[in-house]
Amino acid sequence: TNPDLTPARQPDDLDAALRPKSLSEFIGQEAARDNLRVFIEAARSRGEAMDHVLFFGPPGLGKTTLAQIVAKEMGVGFRSTSGPVIAKSGDLAALLTNLEEGDVLFIDEIHRLNPVVEEILYPAMEDRALDIMIGEGPSARSVRIDLPAFTLVGATTRQGLLTTPLRDRFGIPVRLNFYTHDELELVVRRAARLLGLEIAPDGAQEIARRARGTPRVAGRLLRRVRDFANVAGDAIVTAKSADAALTRLEIDALGLDAMDRRYLMMIADIYKGGPVGVETLAAGLSEPRDTIEEVIEPYLIQLGLVARTARGRALNDRAWKHLGLNPPASAQP
Ligand code: ADP
Repeated sequence: TNPDLTPARQPDDLDAALRPKSLSEFIGQEAARDNLRVFIEAARSRGEAMDHVLFFGPPGLGKTTLAQIVAKEMGVGFRSTSGPVIAKSGDLAALLTNLEEGDVLFIDEIHRLNPVVEEILYPAMEDRALDIMIGEGPSARSVRIDLPAFTLVGATTRQGLLTTPLRDRFGIPVRLNFYTHDELELVVRRAARLLGLEIAPDGAQEIARRARGTPRVAGRLLRRVRDFANVAGDAIVTAKSADAALTRLEIDALGLDAMDRRYLMMIADIYKGGPVGVETLAAGLSEPRDTIEEVIEPYLIQLGLVARTARGRALNDRAWKHLGLNPPASAQP
């Protein structure tokens, strides 16, 4: 697959350029936005740091963006790191002791924190304190260091991957959902405006329909469509030119890319529609299980193409239709 089209974990520079900077600029996720607005307002009026927030949902839906917006709207500093980067408890202690009053500390992929590091986080979140051991052997003692009031904002692709003690310490859990086509159309039009690109309404709709419910994918598709338009000398992106570009990128009418189709074809072809275990699929596709569960499957499940059953993954009727295949006789009810 084209690596530029998979919703990567680490946002690139252009992602940053397209990032909404305030809650009112942020499109969609209305429930999340309304709640955040209340919590920000309340914390501000009390002059306190906001309670810890956990954003969860598939990659590219706006978790990092919202974390930055929380800091901005609270009028506090923003520090950012990620779970796998914090290797030792000392690394986290250094980060925490360098925070300023009220700061937002953003930890992306928080489910990938080392368990030893995670233990340090519990008292930090609960009591805003750090317990550190000084010395060794019989003379060792534990010293408690007070931390400034801060807001931890965690992001994870799946809430279920967090340990219960960590999950319980977030006062504000926020689920992000896939965006509707109408919302994505607004995302595309906004991004086009920022990129100085002229786009017809039907051109924006075409990209929105094929963006996997994900703003990051919408931004990337728009940039690729812009490349094709530039080379063709088109002054404006229309549905026709968007469709031509997306088809050349192997993005189909449902917005599925080559990887999505390989996944569906493997279940259809080799496992007669399933059920088949995710480990087996991961091995067959040479993709990490995490990528399958966090990047590929959520959208296919949302579209009703695939079902997650106790015995594994199985294709629904809609998937067979989309692939233009007939389900094997034994799979029919
Ligand atoms: P996540 O952290 O969930 O992986 P990001 O916050 O990095 O996702 O967002 C990915 C990209 O999508 C960024 O370029 C961001 O500007 C854009 N984006 C996300 N949410 C929105 C939104 N609601 N409106 C407009 N652009 C968005």
